Amino acid sequence: MTIPAELDPAERILMGPGPSTVPTRILRAMGSPTLGHLDPQYIGYMDETCAMLREVFQTKNLLTFPVSGTGMAGMEAIASNLIEPGDEAIVCINGVFGIRMQDIIERCGATVHPLQIPWGETFTDEAVAAKVAEHPNAKLLTIVHAETSTGAHQPLAGISKIVHAAGMLFVVDAVTSLGGHELKVDEWQIDAIFSGTQKCLSCPPGLSPVSFSDAALEVMDTRKTKVQSWYLDVSMLRNYYTGSGGRAYHHTAPINMIYALREALRIVLEEGLENRIERHRVMHLELRAGLEGLGLSYIPQNSLYTLNCVTVPEGIDEAAVRRKLLENYSIEIGAGLGVFAGKAWRIGLMGHSATRRNIQTILAALKDCMG
Ligand SMILES: *Cc1c(COP(=O)(O)O)cnc(C)c1O
Repeated sequence: MTIPAELDPAERILMGPGPSTVPTRILRAMGSPTLGHLDPQYIGYMDETCAMLREVFQTKNLLTFPVSGTGMAGMEAIASNLIEPGDEAIVCINGVFGIRMQDIIERCGATVHPLQIPWGETFTDEAVAAKVAEHPNAKLLTIVHAETSTGAHQPLAGISKIVHAAGMLFVVDAVTSLGGHELKVDEWQIDAIFSGTQKCLSCPPGLSPVSFSDAALEVMDTRKTKVQSWYLDVSMLRNYYTGSGGRAYHHTAPINMIYALREALRIVLEEGLENRIERHRVMHLELRAGLEGLGLSYIPQNSLYTLNCVTVPEGIDEAAVRRKLLENYSIEIGAGLGVFAGKAWRIGLMGHSATRRNIQTILAALKDCMG
């Protein structure tokens, strides 16, 4: 065969629903020499990575580690370890990611009671309380903190209290909020949470940070059946990540991805979690003012800083605009998903991409490409 040309990816400005632009520091860290996954030097780097993850999740949970795989692997790890066949679960659905959670939990053999509200809206404490009262035998309730398909930002603290009062576990998808929005795992008593690296942490995709509370651990420890997924079985993974029972080989850790995440978390902590969230807030307000100045309107309940979902004006070919942005300006934004397909653009302001320079660039570029 003819050998393909040397890799030469364009340097895009990534302002879609993820991945976000990756800082050079992280790419350099990734290019460091590969160590063995049981090498004491590597174990040290991994432990530091888990310690920084606890800081960023704001938790003391010992069982906090990056699952090998993207955000969906974290979702699947949580469902397959907490659910056993015959269980019941309440899944809150207001966009794409709630639907996926329902699918995964059903594949684990549970009966799902979906709590559905229109796409884009957020759940009230009252709606959750009513659903929980209707299904008192549910083992857990899942909810999406930052619904990337719509821009909905879900308040969690009140719902957590309702779920715990009913004796259920509280499970949260924080893929698009970790590192971009306030998120307090211990204070909000979240029992199981997962995120992704390529959104507000601005690391390449490939790991899914997760954290489990003591109550979640207890549920896993008292399972009657084996976890159906061998690869994602936390009872085996925890030996390696927490050192309990020795650093037993389970699967080869994605060493260089851990280097990348370690560097990404160093950057988050250097900036300071609060400063970083404030930056996302301020950048969101600047983008919002600029987009509205161009005559674009946000979908009504868009409350996320990190994902800006705007309606495509009448008469504009949304795919053509995105193609021009990519070809003429090397900027990527996202298309609408599900009920918003063909009707909305999703503009991400995540991590390293959430800068004034990018905002001014995309506003000028959008004006040109829509014109
Ligand atoms: C991106 C995303 C996921 C899935 O993550 P992948 O890294 O694409 O597997 C899950 N939930 C939400 C809210 C997301 O934005």
